[in-house]
Amino acid sequence: MPDQMIEKNYTFFNEAMELRNLAKKHQEFFRNDIPLIASENIMSPLAKEMLLTDLGSRYAEGLPHHRYYQGNFYVDEIEDKIIELSNRLFGSKQTDPRPISGTNANMAVIYGFLNPGDLIAAPDLSGGGHISAARFGAVGFRGLDIKTYPYDPDTMTVLPDEASKMIIREKPKVCLFGQSVFLFPTPLKEMNDAFQEVGCRVWYDGAHVLGLLAGGRFQDPLREGADVITASTHKTFPGPQHGIILGSTSDENWKAVQRGVFPGTLSNHHLNSMAALGMTLVEELEFGKSYADQIIKNSKTLAEELASLGMNVLGESRGYTESHTLVADVTNFGGGKKVSETLESVGIILNKNLLPVDHNKNSQNPSGIRIGTQEITRIGFKESDCKELASLIIDSLKASDYDHIKEKVRDLKGRFNEIHYCYGREKPYEYINVFN
Ligand SMILES: *Cc1c(COP(=O)(O)O)cnc(C)c1O
Repeated sequence: MPDQMIEKNYTFFNEAMELRNLAKKHQEFFRNDIPLIASENIMSPLAKEMLLTDLGSRYAEGLPHHRYYQGNFYVDEIEDKIIELSNRLFGSKQTDPRPISGTNANMAVIYGFLNPGDLIAAPDLSGGGHISAARFGAVGFRGLDIKTYPYDPDTMTVLPDEASKMIIREKPKVCLFGQSVFLFPTPLKEMNDAFQEVGCRVWYDGAHVLGLLAGGRFQDPLREGADVITASTHKTFPGPQHGIILGSTSDENWKAVQRGVFPGTLSNHHLNSMAALGMTLVEELEFGKSYADQIIKNSKTLAEELASLGMNVLGESRGYTESHTLVADVTNFGGGKKVSETLESVGIILNKNLLPVDHNKNSQNPSGIRIGTQEITRIGFKESDCKELASLIIDSLKASDYDHIKEKVRDLKGRFNEIHYCYGREKPYEYINVFN
């Protein structure tokens, strides 16, 4: 604790130090543990730097060069540049980099494309759908009616023939695709005839897979029939907590989306995280392909290894996964709650997850766990490291001596001390000290 502050005898300074300590402990925790949450990532030094700039204190409502506040000269240039970088990286015609989260991006599209009472088609929650596409989430907030697609419970993937029939029968205004458990590409092309027949707009939620799309992997939604893509920018895409909307659609559709962003669901956007997103776009243009390739290699390896060690990994018929994610039914190890808590106690951080067999029940103790390889890939894990990790996971679930395994987890993590696929070399999970 800085001495000069103590001497001044401030009343609340201890509270500040307590908060600071908790944040430091959190950093230390992630330095020692193995992060496998499929929706998280770490930022590059250049992106993090953007978060700490003055941009984070300013207002810039509206679109570049059409603002409501003065002082936005450089903000306009930054936002123009980000739009250009994004269209280049994703091959999109339009980009809106203002949404402050994936859910915000989703709400903007819902607001722009749909009116209360309209019908939207979306993935089922137990088939990997996200809460923002549920009646109790953003879709319900707009008062929409919802129908979910038939899907294959083993691969958690929409069935194109059955879904096409459903679309033709129900005539939704918008077809939403994209999942939080997203193992295999959505067969969009195969459903194009149905989209044409009912004249619906097609919306792809790429929150989980944006970093794979950036690397030219997984699928290419804008060229497979999607009008717009919404996404978070902090899952496989290794940027700040933020959102983005990409379009390859008519001017009229795009205007509706932009009105959905502002003034529909946002007043000011967060300029510092938008700038950090811009920096990450640059680094993805440079390193995105090799990053995406390694993520997928790692998740395939981890899935194969866990399966060979007795874990019931879903999607075996198609090689388990083509993304960063794998899911397993861990009923034979005591269920999702027990397994995720046991692993947390040895320093392996992942989440329990609802599976198709749960039929949308038991969200507090579902049958599954979900694993993502994007963050470990970013700190340098390769296939052989994933094999080692798989053994540690299985050992912990069979073990009685947790301390021994915890040591091994720390040793493994201790070998990865650099952020990869970005400019500059920095240790991950470092604390920035304002007093030194
Ligand atoms: C994570 C996620 C979102 C929203 O993410 P936030 O950025 O946390 O608001 C939206 N859709 C899907 C499919 C997701 O997995």
